[in-house]
Amino acid sequence: MKYKFEQPIIGKIGTDKYKCTLEWRNGVLISDEPEDTGGKDLGPDPYTLLVGSVASCALVTMRMYIDRKGWDIPFIQIKVNLYQDILNDRPTTVIDRDIIFPETLTEEQKVKLKEITSLCPISKILEADIKFRTFIFKTGETKTIKYGNEEITIRWRPEFCQHSTRCWKQLPQVFNPSVKHWINPDGAPAERIHEQITRCPSGALEFVSNKEKTE
Ligand code: SF4
Repeated sequence: MKYKFEQPIIGKIGTDKYKCTLEWRNGVLISDEPEDTGGKDLGPDPYTLLVGSVASCALVTMRMYIDRKGWDIPFIQIKVNLYQDILNDRPTTVIDRDIIFPETLTEEQKVKLKEITSLCPISKILEADIKFRTFIFKTGETKTIKYGNEEITIRWRPEFCQHSTRCWKQLPQVFNPSVKHWINPDGAPAERIHEQITRCPSGALEFVSNKEKTE
């Protein structure tokens, strides 16, 4: 299991309707809702973010292809929108991409770039099966099993575990659910284990440095 991002996008909302901050690898984006749904329109709403992602992915994919071919195409414009409909008795979302090329392009180039657009990674994601998994971080006292060595103690709360598979798929040298003593604190450097434990979405894992505890 390898996530797309080293660090996940972190979204937060307070009581200021409906301003959200989205922390990404190089800064913070604001999203909001339009005024007619109670927001202040301070940033793109979730539909706009989705449609914007389709637009930018199509443009970048075309530009990469154009650069590889060495074609002289100074700009491309795309208009993207979506609607929802019932098609073949099923609720379906239709996303339209209208591309405007400079007049200097040949028909062949236009056809090729249209083809390339349909191969952009975001379209592929949206056209394939998507599964959402949602985890809730828990805190509090519950049965805890400890696995440790001189340097560290890993505390595991089985009742909190939501079986995300994240720990054992990303650090199998330490987490191996196919054996009874499933956590091996000697399987990786303490720093790496600590980092992995911060990725546990349920609060089932906790890292304790025995050195700090003693001090
Ligand atoms: S990462 Fe946490 S929630 Fe996921 S399987 Fe491991 S202990 Fe359980």
